[in-house]
Amino acid sequence: MFKLDDEQKMIIDTVQRIAAKEIAPRAAELDETAGFPHHAIEVFAQNGLLTPLLPNEFGGVQLSFLVFSIVLEEIAKVCASSALVLIAQADGMLPILHGGTEDLKRRYLERLADDSTQLTAIAATEPSAGSDILSMRTKAVRKADKYIINGQKCFITNGSVADFFVLYAYTDPSKGARGISAFVVEKSFPGLVYGKNENKMGMRGSINSELFFEDMEVPAENLVGVEGQGFANLMKTLSMSRLFCASQAVGIADGALNHATKYASERTQFSKPIAALSPIQFMVADMAAGVESARLLTRKAASLFDEGEEKRAGVFAAMAKFTASDTAMRVTTDAVQIMGGYGYMKDYPVERMMRDAKLTQIYTGTNQIMRLVAGRSLLSI
Ligand SMILES: Cc1cc2nc3c(=O)[nH]c(=O)nc-3n(C[C@H](O)[C@H](O)[C@H](O)COP(=O)(O)OP(=O)(O)OC[C@H]3O[C@@H](n4cnc5c(N)ncnc54)[C@H](O)[C@@H]3O)c2cc1C
Repeated sequence: MFKLDDEQKMIIDTVQRIAAKEIAPRAAELDETAGFPHHAIEVFAQNGLLTPLLPNEFGGVQLSFLVFSIVLEEIAKVCASSALVLIAQADGMLPILHGGTEDLKRRYLERLADDSTQLTAIAATEPSAGSDILSMRTKAVRKADKYIINGQKCFITNGSVADFFVLYAYTDPSKGARGISAFVVEKSFPGLVYGKNENKMGMRGSINSELFFEDMEVPAENLVGVEGQGFANLMKTLSMSRLFCASQAVGIADGALNHATKYASERTQFSKPIAALSPIQFMVADMAAGVESARLLTRKAASLFDEGEEKRAGVFAAMAKFTASDTAMRVTTDAVQIMGGYGYMKDYPVERMMRDAKLTQIYTGTNQIMRLVAGRSLLSI
């Protein structure tokens, strides 16, 4: 099941090497200082991995969803924040790929090719529009050859560091979902104002920003597709992004499990390793079963996207997202428990992993919303 060919295996070997040598050693410092993983970005770019879903025709390596999912897992095992940067890159690239004109694709997607370190992002969430995205207030009004955009976004991953990003705004609020459009915005556009970068519980090595649009001018040719297609474009991107989040969550969980099992074999209490105690064995068994189940569901979702079965893939991605992230939360909490007081200290990575895991239950659609998405689809509602 989920077999990789030799080239795909080589890519995963490279990623594992990069994760161990380049990413893992800096993870604790990134978390401690709430730094941005510039080094990881350089290394990903040098290896063609910064935007690896980018199709060959735009200069990308065009990984399959399955291989990208495993890449995210491998990076997240050691540093979930660095994996989040890769997810934001994919999220910013996909809306243009799905809905852009040939001209728009050439102008922006080629900027992400080869060893480019250009960053991108997706900006949909607003203070009043989280799960209820249709309540967004940002508006775009066409004036001659430009759109004038007013409004704001929040929590945007890569927001203040992105060279360009995809923004969702109402062009016709009276049409509801069919009145939302997507635009490509460059950091240099007049009227784009940066607010604060958030101070977060976890994933502290990623940047999440407020963005304000004050009569921001966007050239009309930066509309993604045609007016009114933004909501469908966003939903398509988010359904894939849920797979990415699930992959990241599997990685976090597996990383924590590895630390906990190693510790359990080394830690001696009552004259024997705690690994010899049944309660610890039961916990490890449950943790491993959870990780493997979440991984299988995630890879199934990835394979369905690769097979072009988008509708089923969307349901599986939603199920994988809530399963993997709930698993990551439980497994990281149990890893801290197995490591006792030491697990609670910042000297060991499981404390960071527990905080990182929490985000995976919230972003790209909360787990409550994921259950609604999956349930409604399964019941054909
Ligand atoms: C670190 C981080 C990174 C992010 N990155 C991005 C990004 O790059 N781009 C972007 O656009 N957004 C981003 N987001 C936003 C993220 O997707 C939203 O936070 C998320 O969708 C939830 O919205 P909310 O925070 O407004 O919560 P709310 O929608 O206010 O939800 C609050 C609670 O109510 C529950 N709830 C809401 N509606 C329902 C319902 N109908 N049924 C049952 N329960 C419900 C939720 O599950 C949750 O528990 C990011 C968020 C964070 C924290």
